[in-house]
Amino acid sequence: MSTRRTFIKQSALATTIAAAGGISMSENLTAMPENIIAKPTKPVVISTWNFGVQANSAAWEILSKNGTALDAVEAGVKVTEADPAIQSVGYGGFPDRDGRVTLDACVMDEKGNCGAVVFLEHIMHPVSVARAVMEKTPHVILAGEGALQFALANGFQKENLLTAESKVAWEKWCKEHQYSPMKIDRDNHDTIGMLALDAHGNVSGACTTSGLAWKMHGRVGDSPIIGAGLYVDNEVGAATATGKGEAVIKMCGSFLIVELMRNGKTPAQACKIAVERLAKQQPDHKDFQVGFLAINKRGETGGYAIAKGFQYAVHNGENVLIDAEYLVKE
Ligand code: ASP
Repeated sequence: MSTRRTFIKQSALATTIAAAGGISMSENLTAMPENIIAKPTKPVVISTWNFGVQANSAAWEILSKNGTALDAVEAGVKVTEADPAIQSVGYGGFPDRDGRVTLDACVMDEKGNCGAVVFLEHIMHPVSVARAVMEKTPHVILAGEGALQFALANGFQKENLLTAESKVAWEKWCKEHQYSPMKIDRDNHDTIGMLALDAHGNVSGACTTSGLAWKMHGRVGDSPIIGAGLYVDNEVGAATATGKGEAVIKMCGSFLIVELMRNGKTPAQACKIAVERLAKQQPDHKDFQVGFLAINKRGETGGYAIAKGFQYAVHNGENVLIDAEYLVKE
């Protein structure tokens, strides 16, 4: 999946963009030289982690043909949901401590419409069920058995999402941990959050995950929670999150970032301030990871994390993977 072209460091991207004369610097940004603003551009799609590169390609297929941001983010994250090698999202995701794969997902469009499913089992594409909740019901969130019933009634197929590989990993965990609830550290979880600005100037987002590996049965993280794992405001931009969901829910991370952008911060600045806010609120933040991503109406993008290692992919005609800046320098 990765090529030398797609794996470039943030500093290298900054250089590339600066050379292209595309950086828009604000006064505040000069005090934060490590934060780049990707050049204003339209359309553009961004998504979390290295699997975002492949997901961005699917989204770009739609965006580059004048498609909508909503269609693009749905198509993009479906690639990740269907990939059994990605054991933190969709099919092949690690199960909870009872051996059940339970999925969380949401979408939000340029009109402020949103839909989500939480604690959904047996459905390959929870993001599409979330979209159906948004488009076909008067509700925002459907959970568990009710979400499954709704999915089946709307033509989704019931499938076994627990792959042999993930089952083996779960059996090993069972032996080693005797069913004790996990401390949430930096491993065993990731999410695809994707944000897009289309050629019409509209912003939408999607977020989908199997959540924490070996979580307590019934646990739901930030990813399907509007304002926490995802938020879109078409006047301003959008934000999404990955990492310890409990930490993101406590500070309404994505909503906060959009509000910071509304008040003039760039996406990179807003993500950094949100991480700083989280760190101040949660003194144990050094023990876990959270990463934020944001996009504004001009097509500027940015990301920031608590710890080293968070990557995100940006596609605006060229698909690049960026190492995000981070707070805790160890
Ligand atoms: N935010 C997800 C959750 O808490 C996990 C992750 O993105 O790492 O379920």
